[in-house]
Amino acid sequence: MTTLFISDLHLEAGRPEIGEQFLSFLGDEARDAEALYILGDLFEVWLGDDDPNPYYTSMKVAIRELTDSGVPVFFMHGNRDFTIGEIFSGETGVEILDDPVIVDLYGQSVLLSHGDALCTDDVQYQQVRAMTRNPEWQTMMLAKSIEERIAFSIQARKDSMAHSNSVSAEIMDVNLEAIVATLRQHGTSIMLHGHTHRPAIHDVDLGNRLATRIVLGDWFEQGSVVRWDENGPRLETMPR
Ligand code: MN
Repeated sequence: MTTLFISDLHLEAGRPEIGEQFLSFLGDEARDAEALYILGDLFEVWLGDDDPNPYYTSMKVAIRELTDSGVPVFFMHGNRDFTIGEIFSGETGVEILDDPVIVDLYGQSVLLSHGDALCTDDVQYQQVRAMTRNPEWQTMMLAKSIEERIAFSIQARKDSMAHSNSVSAEIMDVNLEAIVATLRQHGTSIMLHGHTHRPAIHDVDLGNRLATRIVLGDWFEQGSVVRWDENGPRLETMPR
């Protein structure tokens, strides 16, 4: 049996080919999986569990069909869909995970994260992250009308794009010291994350031992998946 990991699909009605591939994946390969982990940014923008967006409703129905078929599905918040909450969880049957979390995979202790918390060089982003992950801020935001939240998300997207264009790619990548500190703190030798859209497998020198960092890719041009079984992890692309 294989455990599947995906992240950074950025589903939205305006990019239907991603959703079509996701639906095929859920209805086909994922049905035979031991479990599916979605490590954040499944959705391009999540206004709140009360968003009536019919495109997202169709995705929720497909996820529910998978959990109803007996495949456990786990979700970790990304920086686009961090307000996914208990209502979504109840509708889809998905279990929401903390970031980071340690899971046991075929006898190996593995750290899972979305990855944005590791981008510590981007001080401005970390300030926004701290604000928006604050429960009081979220309660305030989710109390606004859907229209107000749409207006906020459009502005936030503009600000984020302006910021991305003003700082270097290195600044927005993960910070090696944060990686080392996180692996040491949790005593793990292997981690898996997304967010940076730079699929790769890296060695990480922890001084006394060598660790591995696996990075999932986004789904903009093709699917990206980690297939993990008793032989270990494989980072693979899924052509459309
Ligand atoms: Mn992200």
